[in-house]
Amino acid sequence: HSHLMNLKYLALNESLYDYTCNQRSHAKEPILETLRIETEEQAGEFSRMLISREQGSFLSILVACLGAKSAIEIGTFTGYSSICIARGLPEDGRLLCMDISEEWTTIAQRHWDLAGVRDRIELRVGPAIEGLDQLDPVPSFDFAFIDADKPEYDAYYERILPRMRSNGLILFDNMLWGSRLGNGLITDEAGQAIDALNRKLASDDRVQTVLLPFADGIQFCRKK
Ligand code: SAH
Ligand code: CA
Repeated sequence: HSHLMNLKYLALNESLYDYTCNQRSHAKEPILETLRIETEEQAGEFSRMLISREQGSFLSILVACLGAKSAIEIGTFTGYSSICIARGLPEDGRLLCMDISEEWTTIAQRHWDLAGVRDRIELRVGPAIEGLDQLDPVPSFDFAFIDADKPEYDAYYERILPRMRSNGLILFDNMLWGSRLGNGLITDEAGQAIDALNRKLASDDRVQTVLLPFADGIQFCRKK
């Protein structure tokens, strides 16, 4: 028994996971639920890229608690995470979304309308690195969510960090890469890039970071 009592983490299973998903505010909120179903219908296997439901709630709460007014998202897909972020912003808050796909972001835009957050969101369709290079160099973001091309994460980070206000938060998604990290067995390019970035962030004096073992692993990174 004692070793179980000392365990500092939980392994989830299907029923425990369903339980956590249901014990949150607005668990059956129809706009987000409809978006998940529509994404599954229209994007097929790509719908696995959607952030998880409880992760969406977490983003909304976090952005609201931060009092963030200006946010950026890299990797918007069909709009699930952007709606969650936008809902945490005040009415005059701004979210800049970048995604390379016209097809996915057309779906996102329709759901921004339905969710009543479209006027808070600016969309730039194109490669994110180019989009970031075109931004004003003056720090302005309170919050950033990075969820596009994994090998490019570090390039996004280096462009976003100088544009973050002090105490702003950068969240990186999929930083446990489907639990393939930590055992020395990663062979794919994306996994290697994520591992290298996790190590870099942990010793980067410009930020304070913690890798949350939640959803697919979230680097929760505060700009000093
Ligand atoms: N955050 C989304 C999921 C993002 S999936 C959600 O919660 O649903 C990853 C997205 O990154 C895809 O929509 C893909 O089009 C986009 N992407 C991939 N490579 C990119 C690049 N180089 N620049 C910008 N977007 C890119
Ligand atoms: Ca993701």
